[in-house]
Amino acid sequence: MALRIYLDHNATSPVHPEVAEALLPFLRDVYGNPSAPYAVGQEARRALNAARVQVGALLGANADQVVITGSGTEATNLAIAGAFFARPEPARRHLVLTAVEHPCVSETCAWLRRVHGAEVTVVGVSAAGCVDPDEVEAAVRPETLLVAVMHANNETGVLQPVAEIGRRLAGRGIRFHVDGVQVAGRIPVAVADLGCDSYAISAHKFGGLKGAGALVLRDRQGLDAVIHGGHQERGLRAGTENMPGVVAMGKAAWVAARDLERNRAQCLQTRAVFDALTERIPRSWRNGHAEQRLPNTVNLCCLHADAMSIVLALSSLGIYVGTGSACASHRQEPSRVLTAMGLTPEAAFCSIRISVGPETTLDEARLAADRIVECVERVRLVTSPEDIGFCDENCPCFLEPAK
Ligand code: PLP
Repeated sequence: MALRIYLDHNATSPVHPEVAEALLPFLRDVYGNPSAPYAVGQEARRALNAARVQVGALLGANADQVVITGSGTEATNLAIAGAFFARPEPARRHLVLTAVEHPCVSETCAWLRRVHGAEVTVVGVSAAGCVDPDEVEAAVRPETLLVAVMHANNETGVLQPVAEIGRRLAGRGIRFHVDGVQVAGRIPVAVADLGCDSYAISAHKFGGLKGAGALVLRDRQGLDAVIHGGHQERGLRAGTENMPGVVAMGKAAWVAARDLERNRAQCLQTRAVFDALTERIPRSWRNGHAEQRLPNTVNLCCLHADAMSIVLALSSLGIYVGTGSACASHRQEPSRVLTAMGLTPEAAFCSIRISVGPETTLDEARLAADRIVECVERVRLVTSPEDIGFCDENCPCFLEPAK
């Protein structure tokens, strides 16, 4: 069999075998509409409720706090746009977000500003990719309706101090939304401890199917639906539920909760192999905070080695890594996240994202790491400065790598 080492779990994860098993009946036999009153529908309704319980359990929430959505993106649209359209007074139209949010946050805020008169403040991050709670607090105004801070960044894996930010915002009548898409199923989460009003997750990042997500709510106050139609999800998200996707999400949540500690330990072991690449590759460094980071993510800059070329060279060998956010990788723009951390566009263009999964073995990690070293060497031979832009005297390539 051809080699396949998949190291892009932050883009999406393989469907867990137990999940595939659990959803099969929902492709074949359990086809009822969960809104239907008769037995065939009620069978589906019970499965829907069970999935809601499983998702809640993964995040320390009750089933009635879980709103099923069609994706993580949709969950965040509901949290932000839903809050904006339900705002108590027209003047409460100020939104605060960080410079490293996923487009599902930044583009939703940009649209609300462009089309609906929202005011938006973007809070920067440190060179390590961390948001400072003081800066978030300083950005808040009397008209602030909502603050959005992601729990972990999809490109660097950097974890943000969301619980501290939640504490600072408590009792001020400001909604706090957390995009937890990269975190759910990877490290323990208890949404109640974060002080947030809403927490978005996506099934395909933790062994479920693409096209299913959820928004966990503190309560149902202060939110309008953004998709209108039937009364599904108690009026917060119209549309007949994607039952295979929902059942798969529930099962994936259950499996992830059961295996969390084992998976985390396994990821830390294989991640260490990629962390060590900075010692093997000259003029390379890791982007993002060393400790405050997901157990599975390494963002590696290898100067003068164009990331897209590395990704394609590795792909031809059956090794799959990312060049940053999955949604942005077809755009020839330097990563917003990395440039917000102070990287030059050139350094950002030379950064790859390696995100391991629980099924990644140590042998696979070692083999992939060896191939990455070779590919960087080869790509450096053929990468001309014009390919990735010119560097100036401020570029880190002028500095000796720290020993
Ligand atoms: N938020 C983050 C941090 C993500 O990484 C992603 C997907 O890459 C999303 C949101 C969007 O989730 P979905 O693919 O379910 O729309």
